[in-house]
Amino acid sequence: MAKPVTITDVQVILTQPGKSRLAIVKVTTSEPGLYGLGCATFTQRIFAVAAAIERHLRPFLLGRDVDRIEEIWNMSMAHGYWRNGPVLNNAISGVDQALWDIKGKRAGMPVYDLLGGKSREAAHVYVHADGGSKEEVAENVRAYMARGFRYIRLQLGGYGGKGSPMIKPKGAPPGAYFDPRDYARRTLEMIAFVRGEIGDQVELLHDIHERLAPIQAAQFAKDVEGFKLFFLEDALAPEDIAWFRMIRAQCATPLAMGELFNNPHEWQTLIQERLIDFIRMHISQMGGITPARNVAIFADMYGVRTAWHGPSDTSPVGHAANLQLDLWHPNFGIQEWYRPSELDYAIFPGLPVVEDGYLYANDKPGLGIDIDEELAAKYPCQDIVEDWTQTRLPDGSPARP
Ligand code: MG
Repeated sequence: MAKPVTITDVQVILTQPGKSRLAIVKVTTSEPGLYGLGCATFTQRIFAVAAAIERHLRPFLLGRDVDRIEEIWNMSMAHGYWRNGPVLNNAISGVDQALWDIKGKRAGMPVYDLLGGKSREAAHVYVHADGGSKEEVAENVRAYMARGFRYIRLQLGGYGGKGSPMIKPKGAPPGAYFDPRDYARRTLEMIAFVRGEIGDQVELLHDIHERLAPIQAAQFAKDVEGFKLFFLEDALAPEDIAWFRMIRAQCATPLAMGELFNNPHEWQTLIQERLIDFIRMHISQMGGITPARNVAIFADMYGVRTAWHGPSDTSPVGHAANLQLDLWHPNFGIQEWYRPSELDYAIFPGLPVVEDGYLYANDKPGLGIDIDEELAAKYPCQDIVEDWTQTRLPDGSPARP
């Protein structure tokens, strides 16, 4: 038997070419020139992920056989005894995606071929149209339509809306305030307006981003039903998923859920009871391609489609991994897309491109993406205390962002 190719180093590359701080894992091997890349981006706790990789995973992984992805994934998860969680899952994802990249490079195949081959040539994407007024949102939708996009998410003033009139109590602390009732009312009005303006030519989506109380979310899902959204996203917080049964019993608005999930218990029941239509984990947050592959197959058995999370806090390497899955699994639904900058394309050669609303892979072996480490180093991660996640209700109490 040939001598195995082994892991000789596991490095974390931190870079911030835009708003989001990104963590990329580079696994180097005993074969000269052979390495793989993976996304480990948990942007709000980026340095904790880096420490988990450098201090805990790296020493445990050195010398292991790069071919044994399954065994390495399971042992990486169990070896710390306490499992799951966003920091550990993202750290494991960085290694897992890099090992799939390496396996593809060794086989001379893109990852979608390792998974079973293409079901489609390109992946339909949706993009975000935000605006300060319903007229501005409609204008942005038209601009996207002119560029060939056919799936467009509508938001009025960001998550939870902005600019609601509200009376705060004396001494209310600073924060990102929003009023759930006003947000729901104005958003329904905006969706009705946009649908009236553009007709049925494109699919519309909306993200509640867990900003409503469960019963308010149920009302919203019912009220929006007639506008035939492609899906309504994160109607509930992960802590409230039992309420999906009630929403499902009330209306046929398609439901998408999952970007915050990091434990299999969070998605098993939703899929088995067919309480949602689209499962949309953040692939690095769930631990990489290996668990995402399992969930895609599991969801397919229940008629649930995928819509993997893909905003700017998924790294370009993570987007390349999303696309490999999208092209392969038969139950693909839609891919969220963030419109990368020219700098993103310069730092990450091979980052997928969109044409006429479709995302295309370059069909190179592995994930098909690389990193210019020198250029990435010119954009180091900044120390940031996020403001937008310091979310508050009108009386000043903390809310989920
Ligand atoms: Mg979302």
